Amino acid sequence: MTCKPTPVPAADQIDIPAIMAKYAAERDRRLRREAQDQFVDPETVFENFEEADPYTPFIEREPIAEELDVAILGAGWSGLWAAYHMRKAGIASFRNIDTAGDFGGCWYWNQYPGLQCDNEAYCYIPLLEETGYVPSKKFADGWEIQEHFQRIANQFDLYEGALFHTKIRSLKWDAGISRWRIETNRGDDLRARFVILGSGPANIPKLPGIPGLDSFRGHSFHSSRWDYAYTGGSRREPVLDRLKDKRVAIVGTGASAVQAIPYLGQYAKQLYVIQRTPSSVDVRNNTPTDPAWQKSLKPGWQAARQANYHKGMLEAYGPGDEDMVCDIWTEISRNLQVELEAEGWPQLTVEQFLARREVMDHQVMERLRARVAEIVEDPATAEALKPWFRILCKRPTSNDEYYPTFNLPHVKLIDVSATRGVERMTEKGFVHQGIEYEVDCVIFASGYEITSELSRCWAVDIIEGRDGVSLYDAWADEPRTLHGSMTHGFPNMFFSALIQGGLHSSYTVSLGAQNERYAAIVSEAKRRGATVVEPTLAAQDAWVQHIRETAIDIMGAVRECTPGYYNGEGGEKFRGPLGEFYGPGWYAFIDLIETWKADGMPGMTFETA
Ligand code: NDP
Repeated sequence: MTCKPTPVPAADQIDIPAIMAKYAAERDRRLRREAQDQFVDPETVFENFEEADPYTPFIEREPIAEELDVAILGAGWSGLWAAYHMRKAGIASFRNIDTAGDFGGCWYWNQYPGLQCDNEAYCYIPLLEETGYVPSKKFADGWEIQEHFQRIANQFDLYEGALFHTKIRSLKWDAGISRWRIETNRGDDLRARFVILGSGPANIPKLPGIPGLDSFRGHSFHSSRWDYAYTGGSRREPVLDRLKDKRVAIVGTGASAVQAIPYLGQYAKQLYVIQRTPSSVDVRNNTPTDPAWQKSLKPGWQAARQANYHKGMLEAYGPGDEDMVCDIWTEISRNLQVELEAEGWPQLTVEQFLARREVMDHQVMERLRARVAEIVEDPATAEALKPWFRILCKRPTSNDEYYPTFNLPHVKLIDVSATRGVERMTEKGFVHQGIEYEVDCVIFASGYEITSELSRCWAVDIIEGRDGVSLYDAWADEPRTLHGSMTHGFPNMFFSALIQGGLHSSYTVSLGAQNERYAAIVSEAKRRGATVVEPTLAAQDAWVQHIRETAIDIMGAVRECTPGYYNGEGGEKFRGPLGEFYGPGWYAFIDLIETWKADGMPGMTFETA
């Protein structure tokens, strides 16, 4: 089916200066001086939050003392990709180490009702052709995604090395044995030749630091630790029937809450949706996979689709391009393509093109605001649900049941924007505009610490490289890497994250390419009989300089946004959750890496200690 442009209000029908002024005003009235410090660790409310797992029983095991080739911190997408590429490269001795009870990362911890990926499954879920699997629908359910983790782990024998319910406490380079010494909360003594840090950006849940937070005596939990024993139902069958006599409040209206709220509205006796900033919520169009389409797929289809998505998201659809993905993420490109075609494809400078994108952004957001008013019956509620920011200031969502939920008589929107968050919590519930609302349960859909504070990024207390130097001290001013892969002074350590490398608009594609490179470096070390591998200082400095010279100021665009995790809640010191990207783009970066590999990996030292 060919994708059609989505009708949006004409540019000359909207008052862009007035919209911009409204965006700035909405941002300013939410800015908090404490920025990211407004949040608190869940441990302040939930005992043993870090190690408790509502989904998988904890099994005692003996501590492990051993030498291994590669220790992989994490068993989410980064960790899975790392293990897959190690297996493929014939490196037999590796382990994934994760606090969760299985593979899955955020898809393990998040099991809330309604969980689906907001990105198209055919692009987002990796290794579809390698496993012969095609997702059952465009936006796959969370459980289907986690099953795919298990499918990959089973098919490529990744379970045998995995250490679950295990947290790495410290990583210390031992020059005497040219290995990383790894301490865990299970008393293990692992000595790994190489370490891959792949713990992902959203691995530490956070709670809002609401005054009186710990005084609430009712039931409560974070959305990433859904308590089905309390609500009833399961992630496969989210029939939350134990809520039928319960008054529930949910704090937050981000991507997680948007998916869970329709289920809470369906089952709870009373639901209070506590919103500080609304999300944009488009139609979902979640179509089941067409068997005829599935049958027609030719080898290479997934990479082609991912490339098409990347073009729509981060580049531009040109003459004759088809938008294969056809959702909210590619809408600006899709709509612009039609406009530019009608104009005979004028030659635009980058600035002119970005200005056109900006106008289309306003048109799309006007469409989304109009959608609220069409569905939500109470005008005041509809007004409060309208998103006033550029589309990529907050993760765009799509859901067909979200807005209709606010038409239910027992669902009430509590707009806490005027107080920059929930005013206060009490023993019995929460206070809003001087009124105490009594509830039985508070669900915190309050997100994750997505931070540039390094120790929190990797969730490892101590990382010490050569001469006991802490990585956190070494990078206090800024991360410094070669290709985003490794850093001088921390031999044999790889970063599976988006630092100073190429960015593909499918995060999983970026991680896949990165870990393929790490397997190539480990293989090269083995081939040369080297035990210590690291970038030279000169090569690293040159790369950082090159990154700076070619960088796109991605933070510049989000700095003006409504506060949120994309811009460190508007904080001054925030470097960005994703780091710096290679400005010339994904394909230029991949070409550069391929040339670097073919040239024998210049700028790296391979030594035998
Ligand atoms: P978010 O950080 O996006 O949302 C947190 C919510 O809590 C926001 O609405 C925030 O309001 C609100 N909040 C924070 N503090 C307070 C306070 N003091 N009072 C009232 N409200 C408060 O977390 P999510 O878990 O929703 O999503 C995190 C990320 O996880 C997503 O953006 C996405 O990357 C990923 N995700 C992905 C999905 C997918 O489909 N792939 C699905 C779900 C999540 P405010 O906006 O004003 O700060």
